[in-house]
Amino acid sequence: MSLSIGFIGLGNMGGPMAANLVKAGHQVKVFDLNQSVVNDLANKGAIAAIDAKHSASDVDVLISMLPASKHVKSLYLGETGLVHILAKSTLVIDCSTIDAASARDVGAELSEHGIDFVDAPVSGGVAGATAGTLTFIVGGGDEQFAKAQPVLADMGKNIFHAGDIGAGQVAKICNNMLLSILMAGTSEALQMGINNGLDPKVLSDIMTASSGRNWTLELYNPCPGVMDTTPASNDYKPGFMVDLMAKDLGLAMEAAQQSNSSTPMGSMAKNLYTMLQHQGAGSEDFSAIFKLFSKE
Ligand code: NAD
Repeated sequence: MSLSIGFIGLGNMGGPMAANLVKAGHQVKVFDLNQSVVNDLANKGAIAAIDAKHSASDVDVLISMLPASKHVKSLYLGETGLVHILAKSTLVIDCSTIDAASARDVGAELSEHGIDFVDAPVSGGVAGATAGTLTFIVGGGDEQFAKAQPVLADMGKNIFHAGDIGAGQVAKICNNMLLSILMAGTSEALQMGINNGLDPKVLSDIMTASSGRNWTLELYNPCPGVMDTTPASNDYKPGFMVDLMAKDLGLAMEAAQQSNSSTPMGSMAKNLYTMLQHQGAGSEDFSAIFKLFSKE
């Protein structure tokens, strides 16, 4: 069924996600603060909205894909928030990775105005967003999940219902904390192999067929030259920025503290990513953590 969909936030992830909704035959009204990405999407068949309100008016579904909690809260809440102009029948899907409490605040305020909301953070990176194979991790009521599912299916492959509003965000930060640990561990293992005379390609093949196998090693190798299409082989152009990973690890540490969880590995990864930010690599891909271990 063709729907009218508003889409706000057309960055590394939102751009290809919105393009897939256009390809699926929906009418998509797009907005971003960066006019050039709006123009890119308009060239692919989307309608260029002049501001966030324009993209949110007269739509069946509104999707946002923004960097962090403060962007999401200021988009929807407060005197100038979209909560005041969204039609009651609209379903709002926020795909940004933010803290669960902010997702619950936004959900509660929208629901007071009769507007449906789910948090639906994603996993799968830019490659998954482009190929339409993202994993969506959804928090919200059964009815809202059922409404969101067909739209998410046009941008992704696996769609999980994690629980009530906010549950999608909790599951997502658990995943990203583990991802950061795997990326750091893979980097240090590869560099140790190189320092001992191994070819990183050969070592990657060996570990991929052995018990050290993991997603970063197999699909997102952090060592330049091992895989042609990864950010590591493209000067660490993102991809998924170090700044965003550091933000997610901050959210993970807050969740750990609130739940009295012990997360020593996550805490170490948070420190490593903060160090990388201090070295000026905030806008590079998160696989640039490999450089912390390099001798050069
Ligand atoms: P990005 O920085 O590339 O894109 C964010 C976009 O939002 C930018 O184009 C920016 O101009 C726009 N924007 C910011 N504030 C806005 C506003 N008020 N109105 C309209 N547009 C606004 O970030 P990204 O990599 O696309 O990530 C987006 C979210 O997805 C983040 O929460 C991130 O943690 C999460 N995420 C990213 C990846 C990845 O691989 N990049 C993977 C999974 C999840």
